[in-house]
Amino acid sequence: MVESSVLGFPRIGAFRELKKNTEAYWAGKIGADQLLAVGKEIREKNWKLQKEAGVDIIPSNDFSFYDQVLDLSVLFNVIPERYTKFDLPQLDVLFAMGRGLQRKATETTKAVDVTALEMVKWFDSNYHYVRPTFSHSTEFKLNGQKPVDEYLEAKALGIETRPVLVGPVSYLYLGKPDKDSLDLKPISLLEKILPVYTEILKKLAEAGAKEVQIDEPTLVLDLPEEVQAAFKTAYETLAKAEGLPKLILTTYFGDVRPNLPAIKGLPVAGFHFDFVRCPEQLDDALALISDKQTLSVGIVDGRNIWKNDYAQSIEFVKKAIEKLGADNVVVSTSSSLLHTPVDLENEKKLDAEIKNWFSFATQKLAEVVTIAKAVSGEDVSAALEANAAAIKSRKESDLTNDEAVKARLAKIDKSLSTRKSPFPERLAQQKAKYNLPLFPTTTIGSFPQTKDIRINRNKFVKGEITAEQYEQFINSEIEKVVRFQEEVGLDVLVHGEPERNDMVQYFGEQLKGYAFTTNGWVQSYGSRYVRPPIIVGDVSRPKAMSVKESVYAQSLTKKPMKGMLTGPVTCLRWSFPRNDVSQKVQSLQLSLALRDEVNDLEAAGVTVIQVDEPAIREGLPLRAGKERSDYLEWAAESFRVATSGVRDDTQIHSHFCYSDLDPNHIKALDADVVSIEFSKKDDPKYIQEFSNYPNHIGLGLFDIHSPRIPSKEEFVARIGEIMKVYPADKFWVNPDCGLKTRGWEETRASLTNMVEAAKVFREKY
Ligand code: GLN
Ligand code: ZN
Repeated sequence: MVESSVLGFPRIGAFRELKKNTEAYWAGKIGADQLLAVGKEIREKNWKLQKEAGVDIIPSNDFSFYDQVLDLSVLFNVIPERYTKFDLPQLDVLFAMGRGLQRKATETTKAVDVTALEMVKWFDSNYHYVRPTFSHSTEFKLNGQKPVDEYLEAKALGIETRPVLVGPVSYLYLGKPDKDSLDLKPISLLEKILPVYTEILKKLAEAGAKEVQIDEPTLVLDLPEEVQAAFKTAYETLAKAEGLPKLILTTYFGDVRPNLPAIKGLPVAGFHFDFVRCPEQLDDALALISDKQTLSVGIVDGRNIWKNDYAQSIEFVKKAIEKLGADNVVVSTSSSLLHTPVDLENEKKLDAEIKNWFSFATQKLAEVVTIAKAVSGEDVSAALEANAAAIKSRKESDLTNDEAVKARLAKIDKSLSTRKSPFPERLAQQKAKYNLPLFPTTTIGSFPQTKDIRINRNKFVKGEITAEQYEQFINSEIEKVVRFQEEVGLDVLVHGEPERNDMVQYFGEQLKGYAFTTNGWVQSYGSRYVRPPIIVGDVSRPKAMSVKESVYAQSLTKKPMKGMLTGPVTCLRWSFPRNDVSQKVQSLQLSLALRDEVNDLEAAGVTVIQVDEPAIREGLPLRAGKERSDYLEWAAESFRVATSGVRDDTQIHSHFCYSDLDPNHIKALDADVVSIEFSKKDDPKYIQEFSNYPNHIGLGLFDIHSPRIPSKEEFVARIGEIMKVYPADKFWVNPDCGLKTRGWEETRASLTNMVEAAKVFREKY
């Protein structure tokens, strides 16, 4: 009998219960007891759901109030001293590490002011983890027993679970040294951390846990030698300890093959591989497994929302069974289901045919169970038939077979992805046309999204105000933003994006080939969840998407107005992509739709056009090699296809944030001006790297995540610093990113100071 397993379940609740209660707790509206009770309820619901679905191996300790890596840091006492000195309860220490804490003193408590730990993308997903921060003085010790408590909690409900822990090598390698210990290599702490792993594992065994899922996802990265060697040390040490549960060494999100020598022969009870992301590794995985070990076959996609193709999966799992025998094979999700929305049943507005192509976390439970039954010889023919029909309906749908889109894609060639003239010639024409001063000032696009804007948008969505009323409201917001920018003295203006709910959703809603959910939330970090649109078919643009607002904005001013679009790669990365065609094809389809939009803007007189690509860095494949170089090529090509249909004197801008960029990657986009988040980069090397960037560039001068107002002097000092290595005639003056999360007051003050600082430099050069 082949067993079924799940590596983790979403913990946010089907209706974002965790977010609502966590934020209520932060706001002081509910107490810790109430929040803890909500967590308990969610866990109970999740376990019962899995039990009722018939899942054999159900995870515990996959729940977290903020982040599973942060939980481990608290559990192991990896807590920098700045968080412990306020005598906060442990839950508040956890939140302070995750999001910072500022609190005035009261009669009984001290004043608190600490910033958060760094937050980093979890591999190539849109989830962010809180980075463990180690110093020479870190003393590992158990600070509690969350994994044991949650295991016992499930047991009390009559549900046997398999606890999940991030493994020691990945935990250390995903961390970094703290400011006071910059010479420390976290992996060197391995011997010191193993005793706490041993201790918690022993406690789990004593509580009754027979097996533990130990996650080592770093095995899909290019690892330095000392990290590869650490696996042997870690797992041989743990194997020697007595009374520990069995360990299933779990990897996901990619290809483990280059690191197989590091895990070959490890004394663990089994391995898990992600065969959705990398089916090619099956033979090597099979060769790795000894006759006493099991292979957990990750075949139900934990990162996407498509119905599993049963026929294909069954055939795949059978190959494993043939080699290893039914008792040594487990059918599993590819990764934790954390990255998928909770329940498709809560989507009442989706078209029935399209809905039948999807499977959210709850539906995926039935999928692992059905595949496990099928390969065990049970009769699941009704499920198989229904599945085959859904797969067929998607394959044959007009949506996935738009011949016009395909024909256009086939015609993409060099001429479509190259501007008419090289940058120096374009620059000369643009200079003549716009006559901008040195150190031109601009912003990245959005202005404060006030409550008023959200209220009016909601009213419009609910039909409480008419389209004309809404348009009037949007126009008045645009006018406000234009007048404001003129007053402050900015040079290149924006319309402020008041009509946009989200930079991808806004365009997705207007494109053919996209679908949207009502409750399809996925955790991005802490209490921030996103609701990614879904690319369901070939993408095309029925009509102009942003021209009306930009033309109206331009009509209000003599200054240049930037048209504002979201780039093809960002539209792709922040959606659930198709799994039946390549990312490249989807990106190029989007680029053709955007090309039409760019050309329409130009024809309508909006001739400075910014195409944002903040997600371009995160799409970079995890390993160096062909996949990565191919990505860089098609990502740049997509941007250029979108933006190369314009005249030389039309100025193309682009914008990047959220990551360390390599100037060489953005060079290939050939945008006339790029703006980059920069204010928190202290490393002078990073500035230096950009000094050779051939086109124009604006290095972000202030942090838009903070209400803090930098003074004019601070701006002057910052620009002065950059001018030491950067040519003055190429430099633009702008904030890090859009201002939508800021208030008006600080926006006015910060931008005024920024413009004043630019004037200082105009005098100098
Ligand atoms: N134009 C967008 C804005 O200003 C860019 C957002 C982003 O880069 N994340 O909001
Ligand atoms: Zn940005």
